[in-house]
Amino acid sequence: MPFPPVSFELFPPRSDAAAIALGRTIDLLAAADPEFISVTFGAGGSLRGRSLTVLRYILEHTTIEPMAHLTCVGNTHDEANVLVREFLDQGITSFLALRGDPPKDGSGEVGSIGSAAELVQLIHRVQEERMPFSQEPVPGTRRARRIRQRPRPERVAVAAFPTGHPRSHDIQQDIDTLLAKQVAGATLAITQMFFHSSDYISFVERAVDAGVTIPILPGIMPITSPQKLKRVCELTGETPPAELQIDLEIEPEKQRQFEVGVSFATRLADEVLAAGAPGIHLYTFNRHEAALAVLRSISTPRTAREDTP
Ligand code: FAD
Repeated sequence: MPFPPVSFELFPPRSDAAAIALGRTIDLLAAADPEFISVTFGAGGSLRGRSLTVLRYILEHTTIEPMAHLTCVGNTHDEANVLVREFLDQGITSFLALRGDPPKDGSGEVGSIGSAAELVQLIHRVQEERMPFSQEPVPGTRRARRIRQRPRPERVAVAAFPTGHPRSHDIQQDIDTLLAKQVAGATLAITQMFFHSSDYISFVERAVDAGVTIPILPGIMPITSPQKLKRVCELTGETPPAELQIDLEIEPEKQRQFEVGVSFATRLADEVLAAGAPGIHLYTFNRHEAALAVLRSISTPRTAREDTP
């Protein structure tokens, strides 16, 4: 696996035409040999079928591990159980367990699983329940038998928020929540996007001091237009950095805006990798160009695997 490890995030396409284009994007992203490609999940399960189609495409047409985002908001315990089984039955064994956001208009039930930590536990439990108990001989003995260790999901990732979740009281609450998710069985954290490497670095320092031992993968988003910057900041509650905002706005040409966005994301990636980040997770907006341009520009050159389809 090339160093530094990378992973990509996609969202389910909203039309058949977008689905066709996404197949080509996935092939190109897969050729960069990421550790996994994750696919988002609409809160409340909207577009769940399309998420599964994309995950199955990754499973069947590439050698890359597909990771399913799952949200639990609005689900009863039984519904969440069925959902996890459905993904496992389709061959998806890596998950990003999320609580999700209740509808803003206040409609709909919050559901009986109140946090991502509970969903992490549920994923492990469902995976174990699917595998019947079996026994194996104890090495070095003639008769002794023991219960065979049942396979666990490949990865159960969770979200982390270096600048704080918009609804949390302070950063300590975010660290405590992450610790709870680790205790529940999470094996990896992926951060919300951020604009300053110092936010990621100090969050990781605090998390490690608090006892977090799972890798915290920085989520980096190459933003290549002023409109996208505005939209992303509205969605995440992040404040746009003046420097990036001005540089994107004064450039009338799309190609120059692309270069500005790639160069900003590359600098961020270089800074967090230099500080010891275990890899980078790139938010792609379902486009390969900017994500792959960042990988070509980072200080540590990566090599693509030759046997990719
Ligand atoms: P939790 O871990 O349960 O909580 C996260 C934080 O929010 C904690 O700090 C907690 O203390 C605080 N908090 C939560 N609720 C409250 C409250 N009521 N009052 C005070 N504090 C509160 N959403 C989707 O719908 N689909 C996706 O595919 C998706 N993918 C994501 C991928 C990444 C990498 C990230 C970072 C986020 C993603 N989200 C997605 C968004 C996520 O669902 C929301 O941020 C949601 O609000 C919190 O989910 P969580 O799993 O972090 O929740």
